[in-house]
Amino acid sequence: MPGETRTAYRTCPLCEAACGLELTVADDRIVASRGDSAHVFSHGFVCPKGATFGQLSADPDRLRRPLVRRGDSHEEVGWDEAFRAIEAGLGPILQQYGPPAVAVYLGNPNVHTMAGGLYLSPLLRALGSRNIFSASTVDQMPKHVSCGYLYGSPLAIPVPDVDRTDLLLVLGANPWESNGSLATAADFPGRLKALQARGGRFIVVDPRRTRTAEHADEYVAIRPGTDAYLLFGIVHTLVTEHLVDLGGLAGHVTGLTEVGELARPFTPDRVAEVCGVPAPRIRELARELAAAPTAAVYGRIGTCTVEFGTLTSWLVDVVNVLTGNLDRPGGVMFPLAAHLRPQTRSGGKGFTVGRWHSRVRGLPEVKGEFPVATLADEIETPGDGQVRAFVTVAGNPVLSTPNSGRLDRALAGLDFMVSVDPYLNETTRHADVVLPPTDAARKGHYDFSFLALAVRNFAAYSPPVLPADGAGMDECDILARLTLLVTGQGAAADPAVLHERMLEQALQRVAAPNAGRTVDDLRAMVDGEHPAERLLDVALRTGAYGDGFGARPDGLSLARLKDHPHGVDLGPLRPRIPEVLQTPSGTVELCPAPIAADVERLRGALDRQRDDLVLIGRRHLRSNNSWMHNVPALVKGRDRCTLQMHPDDAARLALADGDDARVVSRAGTVSAPVEVTDRVMPGVVSLPHGWGHDLPGTRMAVAAAHPGVNSNVLTDEFAIDPLSGNSVLNGIPVEVKAAGRP
Ligand code: SF4
Repeated sequence: MPGETRTAYRTCPLCEAACGLELTVADDRIVASRGDSAHVFSHGFVCPKGATFGQLSADPDRLRRPLVRRGDSHEEVGWDEAFRAIEAGLGPILQQYGPPAVAVYLGNPNVHTMAGGLYLSPLLRALGSRNIFSASTVDQMPKHVSCGYLYGSPLAIPVPDVDRTDLLLVLGANPWESNGSLATAADFPGRLKALQARGGRFIVVDPRRTRTAEHADEYVAIRPGTDAYLLFGIVHTLVTEHLVDLGGLAGHVTGLTEVGELARPFTPDRVAEVCGVPAPRIRELARELAAAPTAAVYGRIGTCTVEFGTLTSWLVDVVNVLTGNLDRPGGVMFPLAAHLRPQTRSGGKGFTVGRWHSRVRGLPEVKGEFPVATLADEIETPGDGQVRAFVTVAGNPVLSTPNSGRLDRALAGLDFMVSVDPYLNETTRHADVVLPPTDAARKGHYDFSFLALAVRNFAAYSPPVLPADGAGMDECDILARLTLLVTGQGAAADPAVLHERMLEQALQRVAAPNAGRTVDDLRAMVDGEHPAERLLDVALRTGAYGDGFGARPDGLSLARLKDHPHGVDLGPLRPRIPEVLQTPSGTVELCPAPIAADVERLRGALDRQRDDLVLIGRRHLRSNNSWMHNVPALVKGRDRCTLQMHPDDAARLALADGDDARVVSRAGTVSAPVEVTDRVMPGVVSLPHGWGHDLPGTRMAVAAAHPGVNSNVLTDEFAIDPLSGNSVLNGIPVEVKAAGRP
């Protein structure tokens, strides 16, 4: 009703922390957003991004109707016309060249929506192309690969039990600003303070003295990209000083002796020369981790986006295993999300990569996708299988992938492009058709991805906060309609056909375990007003804590979550070994052959000449990749897109604070203002990523007024971690000089 003010509760979908928000809604507008103090997981915490949830929803630049390209500009059209344009553009390409001619890029926000969690798989299956790319290969693929080999599933990722640990060693992560990544921990800063308050400690290893490092009990500076050496030095010490103690893991680990052999060349004295951490400190770190009642090693973006990303991610887990801290309270543990079921037994097919290879560079498939670093190759290189059409869903690879200048040019040469995206941004400006989903406030939310990474088991569902926008289209409907379109069912296909098929398939999967119940019996019991709600209800009721469709009346269901707007606490993480292990042996396979083979590459690089100056990224609390720079409250104040440089380097290069510096790499050149600071080590410069909003043809006025520079103009598409295909975005060799100086 006009003039009515109400309060609504909703999980914040803007980052991995999954905080509860308390929203004030007046006249169908969100007028305030604050932390939900009754939320079972976040207890009232909110960051500046979550506080702008209403502004993001009301952003005037957010697209509310589809766009179709006419010449050099985009025009608003109706939904039917937009889908007809897609059919006219995509249909002939599929017919003439087949599925490989259509590539797909999935951006990070897909893991923050129910549509992304449920409707992308059917779309990709329907399309049938192997040219699938995502933000995972600029972010986290090394962790998936190392966990895939160690535990048999790339999704079995142990998270630090930060609420109970005595010692947390953080490598290449800045959770004080990110609030955690591949470790969902709302109010990570509060959890770290609590750790210290109960007598625990946390140590940060990073080339940059981040905000996390400033609050740490100790900061250890390390050369970019060398964490694998430090970790191998720790493993070497654990082995040679007989500090290995598997604890409760004994009997569940194979490959221990082989890991000890692999560590042999990496003595603390030898690796200290490379990583810059003194050998005595490396030995002490090993002893502290071994002696602590409980300890957890947590590595994130700085350990993944480097040339030895998979080795580093693997070594993080190796240290946790050798100190007996895997799968025990206070160590690192496997969450069990409410929509998932525990395995019935350990042992499985295990994990493999390279089931097929990319056409141009012959790079192996990993988790069903190719490295995004080779996307431009596939578009530009003529021949059978050349990518001629492109579908993006919630992605901005022109800003977020390596040598993005080249990708930007490649996209301009496509025959057809369609983007499912709420903004006309640096990537979607190339699209022939843009399909904008309704905004987050108008759709339900459940975190399929992050509840499986939470440091405490909990579940929460948020119904839509605002009514549907009559002329907008729900994201599930958009993806369903696209799916039906690519299978030849026409531009006007009814998305309800796919919704019903998906529900039928979900019920068929669970009908047998619910013996005596037919699909029709179960269908009659399914709750939910929206197709995604109905699929969630099936998953919850048959999940780890579910009501089994009435068999366990106290169990979870969609209705129960709706009755608990602040979430349902499911308790601290519990040990899951051996059930979680899906390796062929049913053990933690500590020394997988592909990883062991890559150790020689690391050993060979011990003697490599180090670059004088290397570039790293950085994370800011008010920024989340490329897509939140159109919110005035998040970009106001001083320019944060600066080139941080140590005073010694600034003096050597005759640069002063505020000078315009030219940064040159193999891939490209950018100019950025210098910020002289001892936060970065000598020999290291840092630019944040996700900026560079000065390209023509976009419609993001606030971002365009605060453009910054695109750090991925400098990153190199030919530098990848070979095991995961992940791009190397940290440790890029660069030259820096004053702009205008020869
Ligand atoms: S930390 Fe993440 S989930 Fe929490 S309020 Fe901020 S953006 Fe939202």
